[in-house]
Amino acid sequence: MATYNPKSSKASEFINHEEILETLSFGKENSHNRDLIIEILNKAKKAKGLSHREAFILLSCKEDDLNEEIYKLANEIKHKFYANRIVLFAPLYLSNYCINGCSYCPYHGQNKTIPRKKLSQEEIRAQVIALQDLGHKRLALEAGEDPIHNPIEYILESIDTIYNIKHKNGSIRRVNVNIAATSVENYRKLHEAEIGTYILFQETYNKENYEALHKFGPKSNYEYHTEAMDRAFEGGIDDLGLGVLYGLDSYEYEFIGQLMHAEHLEARFNVGPHTISVPRIKPADDINPDDFDNSISDDIFAKIVACLRIAVPYTGMIVSTRESQAMRERLLELGISQVSGGSKTSVGGYTEKETKGSDQFELSDHRSLDEVVDWLISLGHLPSFCTACYRMGRTGEAFMDLVKKEGIGNICQPNALTTLKEYAIDYASDKTRKNAEALILKELSNIPNEKVRELTKENLEKIGQGQRDLYI
Ligand code: SF4
Ligand code: SF4
Repeated sequence: MATYNPKSSKASEFINHEEILETLSFGKENSHNRDLIIEILNKAKKAKGLSHREAFILLSCKEDDLNEEIYKLANEIKHKFYANRIVLFAPLYLSNYCINGCSYCPYHGQNKTIPRKKLSQEEIRAQVIALQDLGHKRLALEAGEDPIHNPIEYILESIDTIYNIKHKNGSIRRVNVNIAATSVENYRKLHEAEIGTYILFQETYNKENYEALHKFGPKSNYEYHTEAMDRAFEGGIDDLGLGVLYGLDSYEYEFIGQLMHAEHLEARFNVGPHTISVPRIKPADDINPDDFDNSISDDIFAKIVACLRIAVPYTGMIVSTRESQAMRERLLELGISQVSGGSKTSVGGYTEKETKGSDQFELSDHRSLDEVVDWLISLGHLPSFCTACYRMGRTGEAFMDLVKKEGIGNICQPNALTTLKEYAIDYASDKTRKNAEALILKELSNIPNEKVRELTKENLEKIGQGQRDLYI
């Protein structure tokens, strides 16, 4: 039997099944233990994070007034670390060819009903121009695993194409990559291609269930998949994005597993996850969420987000358009710091009408990017198209040190204002432009440091005069 060791490089030791089971029963036994819950809440208020066991006690808490405190604290921590900025991005699907057998994804290798498609470099150009014309600056690349159709050379060429497209005032300034687990050598190539975050969803941390849900293809190897972030780090990528697909196994198991993974990255590399995504399983072609017995209610989902925010205060948290407007609104108050907007989840979706069954999963939020930006403003958030950190060398440990010490809101805020100004001038509808301009004025006066305030003011003026891409 493997023993729990967060520093180990072995999946069975850093995501340790026995430790998860013990944590599960410990949490359930203490769900009404007010003294313990209050003690953990007091520790959480210091905003230094919590262990998986402590965080699970909060997730298990069945005391209504203390749950209210958890929600309140999650909101406070989000503001302490990131101020009120919300970063925007869009996914870009390159290819739905895939040789894996993920039972919850319509792109799985045995699905004969969906049309398979891979974008040529010319088609990528068209997609990226369409995305630039919406105002996007930050993409998450998605591709199935297929060594013939989507080899690493194809991904690298696509990244290069994307970074080199300059259309009107548009540019994609950060390409995050979500492709299958691969070798250290390939991660090194991705690093050299200057990707932003490498994102890999674990799907489920429960090995037995993982193996049942991934019956064929390279992804069926639980260890290879679970240890991928370690190889990515060895390949030089130090901004890593975790995620599970809530609904595949019990949410409690996944929650604990996700935090153990974060602890492992901290213990082994001194760098916690750059982001955590929280997708929930959705209907799609050849997929029925009812086949997975672990779907979770909105209330539980909200609590997961709040407890993750408290447990890893320094980590960006992402919610996609899988969730409805109402749910996204609720989660934004509980610690989410990045959202997608105007997303298409099919290959070629930004220039072609999506046909039924062509998308990877059903979206619940179909609004345009402009509507999402205006909605964020109306809720008191500050929409941001910032990509400054990795371009300033603030990645990995350097980024974490900065965020852990004082939060990064004082840097996010000015960059959010300048990128929102660009958006307002270049892409916004009249209504959104007016609202954005008013918000920029208001938020500018809220920048506490006088020097930074003056510099931001100058940058905003320069953007008004036609300059672009000014950041600190
Ligand atoms: Fe392929 Fe990814 Fe879908 Fe699995 S989740 S079938 S690896 S595209
Ligand atoms: Fe993200 Fe850094 Fe920009 Fe803040 S300043 S929004 S952390 S890239």
